Amino acid sequence: MSREQLAVQRARKSFQTGNTKPLEYRIHQLNSLLRFITERRRDIADAVKRDLGKSEHGTELFETLGLEGEIKLAIEKLAEWAAPRPVEKNLLTISDEVYVQPEPLGVVLIIGAWNYPWAVTLQPLVGAIAAGNAAVVKPSELSEYSSLLLRALLPRYLDKDLYPVVTGGVSETQELLRLRFDHVFYTGSSTVGKLVMEAAARHLTPVTLELGGKSPCYIDKNCDIRIACRRITWGKFVNCGQTCIAPDYILCEPCIQGQVVECIRQTLLEFYGADPKCSPDYGRIINQRHFSRVMSLMEGYTPVVGGQSDASQCYIAPTVLKDVPPHSRLMQEEIFGPLLPIVTVSDMDDAIRFINEREKPLAMYIFCSDKKATKRMIEETTSGGVTVNDVMMHYTLSSLPFGGVGQSGMGCYHGKHTFDQLSHHRACLVRSLGMESVNLARYPPQDRRRARR
Ligand code: NAD
Repeated sequence: MSREQLAVQRARKSFQTGNTKPLEYRIHQLNSLLRFITERRRDIADAVKRDLGKSEHGTELFETLGLEGEIKLAIEKLAEWAAPRPVEKNLLTISDEVYVQPEPLGVVLIIGAWNYPWAVTLQPLVGAIAAGNAAVVKPSELSEYSSLLLRALLPRYLDKDLYPVVTGGVSETQELLRLRFDHVFYTGSSTVGKLVMEAAARHLTPVTLELGGKSPCYIDKNCDIRIACRRITWGKFVNCGQTCIAPDYILCEPCIQGQVVECIRQTLLEFYGADPKCSPDYGRIINQRHFSRVMSLMEGYTPVVGGQSDASQCYIAPTVLKDVPPHSRLMQEEIFGPLLPIVTVSDMDDAIRFINEREKPLAMYIFCSDKKATKRMIEETTSGGVTVNDVMMHYTLSSLPFGGVGQSGMGCYHGKHTFDQLSHHRACLVRSLGMESVNLARYPPQDRRRARR
């Protein structure tokens, strides 16, 4: 039996004991997970530094703080989330109990990505534990240090049979995907998302796919361009552009393009100094393969800001490219790196048309001070989520469902949404054996009914 099979078999056996049913047990595990994050904060930051060159502050801000918030919320709200949810009755069930009961699905497979290796791997786990499931956790092999640390430490805090960590690359993930799960929660590229869904379909296993895509960012000519560019620069270049909801490209009218470039240039200077390579706040590309991929996207263009690189360090400077043609390669695939193309449009309508001609994005950003126009742009487009006059901040609210639509994914999570995503919502009708006379109308023979009429 392979390592993967063994882990899944143990998880299922443990799940079947019913240990995860009592809420106290789940809360105990969630508290242990919280202890893990707080006690090992330093080790986690070190691992992320080695994987992605991220600062300790960056890891706290983008990985552990949100995770802690999610765990605390689940602990606080679990009784409410897991309680039976009464629903409306009809005349026939007026004296019955009618409710929806969330119940565990079974064994969940969580496949994480490397860009925020702790947040995207452990946040689904919070919901899996809260919902009473067992979960096999498969972190990304590309964030190697984080992955190995998780494998070494998680079993010291959580039940190791119920929540095993399986490390490995493509072949190990494929081996896992051959096995039967009750839900697969995948974070990563759309290409692999399709393979995951195909594998899950063989067992009729439902999936949550947290994928990527090209998230547009529209800047209206009448907004405060300086503040807009400051916020965009932060969201685009944090983690070296390797953020699933980073603004992928800017859409604006030609008359403000020059000002946008200058504002971004100024902000970059303020954030990372004259040489971002020396800034402790500027990260690195995850590996050589992704470094070459991002560099190749720039071929044939002369950046107006940045463009410098150092392959030996997987360093690519924050880079801005203007007047990028809509049909260029830069505009065909998700950039997932520190390149920010600007595409000009004639007005907001043209921007809406541009967005709607492409795949539904994971996120969309609108910088505009006209509320009516903003609402119209929201109404006339679609995306997994949208933030107006800022970037990425919708991600930070546990009350908002986080997820994609179309090619950017299916299903959603965060807060109660993760709990619901990883629960079965059982329809429950509890009747009494009394008042049998009201049921006569539905029993055969029909003749008896006709005779009564
Ligand atoms: P990745 O290469 O780490 O892959 C993700 C997971 O898929 C890993 O665990 C890996 O082992 C597994 N995998 C890779 N190839 C596989 C294959 N052929 N068969 C089976 N499993 C395989 O990460 P990635 O795909 O490079 O991640 C980047 C993408 O993830 C971007 O598109 C980004 O937008 C997206 N992303 C989305 C979110 C979100 O919340 N929606 C969050 C982070 C990243």
